[in-house]
Amino acid sequence: MRVPKAGAMAVVVGLALTATGCGGDEGPKGTLSIGIKFDQPGVGLRETGGVFSGFDVDVATYIAKELGYKPEQIEFKKVDSSDRELLLQYNEVKFVAASYSISDKRKEKVDFAGPYFTAHQDLLVRADDNTITKAEDLNNRKLCSVSGSTSASNVKEKLAPKASLLELGGYSECVIALQDGQADAMTTDNSILAGYAAQKANAGKFKLVGLSLSNESYGIGVKKGNKELVDKINAALKKMVADGSWDAAVKKNFGPAYRSEPAPQITTGS
Ligand code: GLU
Repeated sequence: MRVPKAGAMAVVVGLALTATGCGGDEGPKGTLSIGIKFDQPGVGLRETGGVFSGFDVDVATYIAKELGYKPEQIEFKKVDSSDRELLLQYNEVKFVAASYSISDKRKEKVDFAGPYFTAHQDLLVRADDNTITKAEDLNNRKLCSVSGSTSASNVKEKLAPKASLLELGGYSECVIALQDGQADAMTTDNSILAGYAAQKANAGKFKLVGLSLSNESYGIGVKKGNKELVDKINAALKKMVADGSWDAAVKKNFGPAYRSEPAPQITTGS
């Protein structure tokens, strides 16, 4: 989404304050805006009819409940890999739950709660392709990833600097590029790739190479300096693990074929 200029933003914020009659997003009433991905099955997906599904959706809904919001008070807003920091900086969302890896570079702009999940960068190729079995095989090949992601920067900086990298706005666009032959492979977290491979519409079309090219610790992004919210979210995440809801959400969203790891230790907050 586009972030309005400062003037327009003041109007938007003013309207939000009037509409909810409180600070907008943290009171017991009103709506809570949460940034999620809309096109990643199993992780964050807006299905036809406007129903949201995925592990990040379940985690976000649990956190919202712990913050005092009912599911109907949640407004899920679409984020892309490249605008997550901006949306937090401009108060467009209260927090981001969007396959968002904790990184030092991002920590300069936003704060993180968590981590709440560990993924690993992998490759998705066409089912009949046996030429790509390791990262180096990507050099001089066409590789698709998404702008603003750690997946794209890992490729450029270390994994396959000589690959010809096609950077698109979202992973579902890469899936189409891979299917159509505009890309030889796509790369991002195995959690995301597994979701595309498992979609009924993609049956028999793609396969994961099965590499573990990086460790991606998913965090909940919040506006920089909001320590109180980080601590509240961490408390919610710990409760979600302790009461079994985290395991249930992993099983429900990633299915039996995905080998997920136990919930990571929380390393953020006070
Ligand atoms: N987890 C990686 C990241 O935060 C890749 C997935 C994504 O782009 O959302 O960049």
